[in-house]
Amino acid sequence: MTEGAPSAAVVSVGNELLFGETVDTNAAWLGRELTTLGIPVVRRYTVGDVAEDIAWAVREATEMTDLVMVTGGLGPTPDDLTKPTVAVEFDLALTRDDLMLETLKARYGSGGHDEVPLAARVQAEIPEGSTVLENPEGTAPGILLRTRNATVVLLPGVPREMRAIVKGALRPHLEAMRPVHAERVWHHVTHTTGIVESRLTEQVEARMAELPGEIRTPVGVAYLPDVYGVDLRFSASGVSRDEARARIAPLLDAIDEVVAPYRFECASGDLAEAVSTELRNRGMKMATAESCTGGLIAKRITDRPGSSEVFAGGVVAYSNRVKVEQLGVRVEDIERFGAVSEAVAHQLAGGVAALLHADVGIGVTGVAGPSGGSVEKPVGTIWIGTSVRGEVETFLGHYSGDRETVRARAGQAALASVYRRLLNASKG
Ligand code: ATP
Repeated sequence: MTEGAPSAAVVSVGNELLFGETVDTNAAWLGRELTTLGIPVVRRYTVGDVAEDIAWAVREATEMTDLVMVTGGLGPTPDDLTKPTVAVEFDLALTRDDLMLETLKARYGSGGHDEVPLAARVQAEIPEGSTVLENPEGTAPGILLRTRNATVVLLPGVPREMRAIVKGALRPHLEAMRPVHAERVWHHVTHTTGIVESRLTEQVEARMAELPGEIRTPVGVAYLPDVYGVDLRFSASGVSRDEARARIAPLLDAIDEVVAPYRFECASGDLAEAVSTELRNRGMKMATAESCTGGLIAKRITDRPGSSEVFAGGVVAYSNRVKVEQLGVRVEDIERFGAVSEAVAHQLAGGVAALLHADVGIGVTGVAGPSGGSVEKPVGTIWIGTSVRGEVETFLGHYSGDRETVRARAGQAALASVYRRLLNASKG
């Protein structure tokens, strides 16, 4: 449609998307995938299972963009209207594709069915002149057709199937659409934790304002916060990843001083992975004594495969009795300072490391809310202790949010503390 760089639209079909029962993750995924390929998504449409609405969205999208990705409504049931509607809209007859029928027979055969059910046979019908895109994950294939203005791709709604087709059979078609030597957008993500978005933004922007235009201008910076921290996403265009990286690198160097105290490195962006890696690299094991986080930290560490190498075990030290009898917390200290106190966090961390013969111990005790707070120790007050090779450090955190958020933030802060201590110990 357009001169130069091609653009794309995504049409998401399904009543459940409009009613809010399903979140449209397909459009988000396609947005990322196509934009990084150099075919930016410039429009999105969401319509219900209504033929006129599907026809309207697809028609308009083909007038505005070069590539129209339609997801959903491609199955064999009567409310799956995408294929017949698009065929009518572009005046294409539906014809049976014998190869498709054979594939369906094989699939239904392997599923223990003798025959392809009548309703499923419609899946073997494709608009004339279109190309079938193999679906390795299900029975509804993708379909690619060319209209006067644009390329239209029909994809199943099931995210797993949709992605498999885009990454597989559709990929060569997308590659062919990119102009030769097209620049595409590449991203670099830096993960941070322990600093709120507003403060991080302020500090990074202040540093960037001092930089010359040739370092600052080629790079887009986005701040992406969630309950665990803030990701900094740097974007630059380039024909290759290396070219984009070379544009981003000077900016990363320039802001390193600001970001370094909060940064952690790992592919997934999950601090539990970063901590596990650091423990593994040092041949160390960790143990946890969690009161208000109730095992959350242990869960996050053990969610990762291979965690037995780095995790000895954990105690959910909820009652004072468990704190005292299992972990050696002194009764006098609980009586004197309370269960939510520096002394108790200290003894929990040291106690669990000793009990479970671990190199690293974490102790967490606090008020997760919504009740249980006092003037002195309001909801969100959490004492955290970390023991590394017998040396215990403690700190007090104040975390905002509901119970779940307070617990999540406290767990993250404990992991962050261990992470920094491991890194600093190897520097020192
Ligand atoms: P099927 O062969 O299963 O009928 P389909 O192409 O007709 O596939 P739908 O029936 O529209 O797809 O949706 C199938 C499943 O995929 C549903 O669980 C739906 O919630 C989910 N889904 C559909 N569209 C999206 C979307 N845009 N984002 C995320 N999930 C989606």
